[in-house]
Amino acid sequence: MPYRRYAWIDIDTEAIAHNVAAIRARIPERTLLMAVVKADGYGHGAIETARAALSAGADRFGVATVEEALELRDAGFTQPVQLLSEPPIDAVDLLVERDIIPALTTREFAQALSRAAVAAGGTARFHLKIDSGMGRIGVRAAEAPAFATWLKELPALDMEGAFTHFATADAPGDPGFDLQLERFSAAIAELRTEGLRPRIVHAANSAATLLHSETHFDMVRPGIVIYGLHPSDATYGAIDLVSAMSIKARVSYVKTIPAGEGVSYGLTWHSSATTTIATVPLGYADGVHRTLSNKMQVLLGGRRCRQIGRVCMDQLMVEVPGGMHVSTGDEVVLVGSQGGESISMDELAERAGTINYELACGFSRRLTRYYR
Ligand SMILES: *Cc1c(COP(=O)(O)O)cnc(C)c1O
Repeated sequence: MPYRRYAWIDIDTEAIAHNVAAIRARIPERTLLMAVVKADGYGHGAIETARAALSAGADRFGVATVEEALELRDAGFTQPVQLLSEPPIDAVDLLVERDIIPALTTREFAQALSRAAVAAGGTARFHLKIDSGMGRIGVRAAEAPAFATWLKELPALDMEGAFTHFATADAPGDPGFDLQLERFSAAIAELRTEGLRPRIVHAANSAATLLHSETHFDMVRPGIVIYGLHPSDATYGAIDLVSAMSIKARVSYVKTIPAGEGVSYGLTWHSSATTTIATVPLGYADGVHRTLSNKMQVLLGGRRCRQIGRVCMDQLMVEVPGGMHVSTGDEVVLVGSQGGESISMDELAERAGTINYELACGFSRRLTRYYR
């Protein structure tokens, strides 16, 4: 039980295992499942997420940075760990030494990786990133076959995989998606005619995994669904997910103010009658966006209560409904369930004007994660 600070995050690792198993059940047995645990497991904790995902059928892990890959290696994970983008050239020796598989997108990096592998007396696996229309990183699809042919001349490199990433997989019927799939499939076909055979072709993020089985290829790369959150409204109903993260706190102060008093910085909220105010020790330094001021609700006493006044760095205030008795130490839920009520990450994200992804990974390290 948390006791040093009355604000924390509960993570349900069984929910993560349930979600990974649900994805595993939707893809062919021979299809690999890369659990994407970047950004500290979308704020859920990379190590604990990786452990739960592994228990439910994940085959390998995807991360964004070398530091994130090292965290998994240092924790003792022996499964393949892949970077979803190409890291700085300075990292090549470390990648070879710690068996971290980079995405590869430039000639300079390829040459450096090859040299590092030769120096270590081994080979270095990589996955060629093909830009089929996202416009972010990767060799343009039309140039990929020539690029891959050039790569073949470098010693000690092993093209284990080739992949792309969709910009609109979560928006059914978007023509950009069809174009990306067409370009990627054509590039892979051309690689094969050139005698280049990546063993693991992959493209599917969560949305594509759920909505476009033709993108499963040899591996899928789900992230957000692992945590029980949907990539967009389009996947509701496509899978039964259990959300893993709850944001909780305890009331730190209770007071009653007369009519006409203001609350919090700028006095943006005023009482219209005698009002009981509950203070909650959570603020924007914890990841509760200040733009949520006067716009969000919390669960207290099993009921939805309005947050009032500006969200401060470390605290926020809640209007206690008339007739409800609240004491210091009572549990407050920002995201999660209490009594019969619940507030989803999606609801909070909508009120904040953003997406569940950004909120989940934005809750700060100041909040201790408790796992069950
Ligand atoms: C983050 C990421 C994913 C996972 O995306 P979700 O929408 O969370 O499933 C997959 N592939 C790449 C390249 C990514 O950057």
